[in-house]
Amino acid sequence: MILSDYHVHTNFCDGKSTPEEIIQAALKLNMQDLGFSGHSHVKFDEESCMSINGTENYKQAVNNLKIKYDDKLRILLGVEQDYYSDLKPDGYDYVIASVHTLFVNDNKNFFHVDYSPEMLCDAAQKYFDNDFYKLAELYYKHESDLLNKIKYKNKNIIIGHFDLITKYNEDFKLFNEDDKRYIDAAFNALDELLKFDCIFEINTGAISRGYRTSPYPSVKILQRIAEKGGRVILSSDSHHASTLCFKFNECEELAKSLGLELVKL
Ligand SMILES: [Zn+2]
Ligand SMILES: [Zn+2]
Repeated sequence: MILSDYHVHTNFCDGKSTPEEIIQAALKLNMQDLGFSGHSHVKFDEESCMSINGTENYKQAVNNLKIKYDDKLRILLGVEQDYYSDLKPDGYDYVIASVHTLFVNDNKNFFHVDYSPEMLCDAAQKYFDNDFYKLAELYYKHESDLLNKIKYKNKNIIIGHFDLITKYNEDFKLFNEDDKRYIDAAFNALDELLKFDCIFEINTGAISRGYRTSPYPSVKILQRIAEKGGRVILSSDSHHASTLCFKFNECEELAKSLGLELVKL
């Protein structure tokens, strides 16, 4: 069973637990690897990310904890690098690359795709004539460009929650994920990203927080990753010590059933 988790937020960003509390929970679970992945600095969204000074403190704190727990747990220093971050992802063991926000109206307005169903529906109405496929096309345009934008040259690059746009789309409430327009946009982005030999997450964060009953990305997208020989990694996207490795058993089974190659860092 895989007990390594690399997508974990602490109180250095919008997580609720301290790094020490998370390490204690990881030790109880007998985890092998624990990777911290604070939200990179984004100047228009300072509530949920690490501050510029906080980023340096975070790196220092995690590096100190690596030494302190050296004989008990393998700790890695990572970052969840947003498409629009203004800090370079330097000095990390690995990077999770994610799109959370879209700019519209010649960059005059923006909205977060994962903030609330209200914000997403409001944006669809205001900027996309209520056409969720148009919105999804813009989202996947950002996804396809993500690794050009982030320019992280390291084999340990992970794509965070590739289809985050489906966070509030359980039972296809907002749009049909089998629609050709949606599939074309998603698969094009996927194929672009696969050229970088990156790793894709199977991310259970929206399940532990009660938004979805299945992980990101959808089975259809996972099948495409499998067909193309892409690699996947399990992520809890924890914002609390209690959700480390959340539903990893089920995800491991799912990955196996699809013939996906599960990796560790
Ligand atoms: Zn994220
Ligand atoms: Zn995250």
